[in-house]
Amino acid sequence: MPPAVHTLQQDPVGSLPEEWDLAFAALGERPFRARQVFRWIHTRSVAEPDKMSDLARSLREKLSGWGMHMPARVDTVHRAGDGTRKLLVAFPGSARGGTVETVLIPPLPDEGEDPDEDDSPEAGTAEVRRVTQCISTQVGCAMGCVFCASGVAGLKGHLTAGEIVAQVLLGRLLLEPGEALRNVVLMGMGEPLHNYDAVARALRLLTHPEGLNLSTRRVTVSTSGLVPEIERLGRDFNGEVALAVSLHAPDDATRTALMPINKRHPLGELLPALRRYPLARRRRITIEYTLIDGVNASTDQARALVRVLRGIPAKVNLIPVNAVDGGVYKAPTREGVLAFQSVLRAEGLSVFIRRTRGEDIAAACGQLALQGARPVRRALPVVAPGGGRGG
Ligand code: SAH
Ligand code: SF4
Repeated sequence: MPPAVHTLQQDPVGSLPEEWDLAFAALGERPFRARQVFRWIHTRSVAEPDKMSDLARSLREKLSGWGMHMPARVDTVHRAGDGTRKLLVAFPGSARGGTVETVLIPPLPDEGEDPDEDDSPEAGTAEVRRVTQCISTQVGCAMGCVFCASGVAGLKGHLTAGEIVAQVLLGRLLLEPGEALRNVVLMGMGEPLHNYDAVARALRLLTHPEGLNLSTRRVTVSTSGLVPEIERLGRDFNGEVALAVSLHAPDDATRTALMPINKRHPLGELLPALRRYPLARRRRITIEYTLIDGVNASTDQARALVRVLRGIPAKVNLIPVNAVDGGVYKAPTREGVLAFQSVLRAEGLSVFIRRTRGEDIAAACGQLALQGARPVRRALPVVAPGGGRGG
């Protein structure tokens, strides 16, 4: 299922300012008009030409003739008790169709900040509540990780750059007074690096100074470990886009049982690629580690994790697994999670335990299941040394 080739007429919301310039030159329009349209879309979230009130009617008609519109629509909004908002997003006019979810995550009042994530001038002041938005990059996912609802459902299609960016353009309209969008994480449905071209384009748009103007270091690409594309991302963005890698196991046998991608790119290939990633000074790679009781969560495995991370500027994000599959995969007890964390801390690693947000609306990581897809129950092989699983 190859992603579609980008053209401005087919994906105006996914087009860069210089592409607008070229298209407008070809139309015989003045160059500043091109930037005007770009700004309507990316600073005001308006993609319907008839609403672009400062354009000449003839130009609006030309743009309407392309069928230009916002390529995504928010169908429903669920608000959890903790303020997390889950948006169900559909794609009007798309032949591929499907729905994805995007989640707006406000900070908890007492949230211990990861210091790397906060150096903004208003950090520490009460005036601005910094919202993180989690966005999707595919409908479903081809990677098939056994604990993930998206993976179990399989890949239904790639999102276009416009569809990826539109999630943020629409999400921004739902911010509440006092909130500001600060971080975007590509941790929703899909494997971002499996849809590389659209994702790279979306990253350029989200961080464009004439558009949403997010700081590159506040946009995080999370990957299950597609090694050639990790290298490409490092080259294309000079290591400036934040990288998160879903590791989930310190050895190949355990990792392959959880994540089929490990057969194609085993740890012997992935870890050296992370060591070579061109990180900016004082930046670190986030290592995501979903803890599953009896599978990857023993203190021996924590020690093994310390060994494999040597030489990688890393911080570790521990995610107690969310049950997606009728509870087949269980998180360790709180004590188990803390024991795992303290092994890593004792070795000087920074470790954060990701708090589950929006649990009452199933917006937590890995719960962004396809609508209507029924996850199949799969047995998880026992591969961890001494890691028996009951039931
Ligand atoms: N495909 C990318 C990004 C989306 S998944 C990736 O795998 O990195 C975002 C994170 O949620 C990943 O670390 C993933 O492993 C984790 N995740 C998926 N299902 C989960 C679950 N049921 N419980 C906890 N974390 C889960
Ligand atoms: Fe895809 Fe990430 Fe889920 Fe794995 S964890 S199936 S890569 S979305």
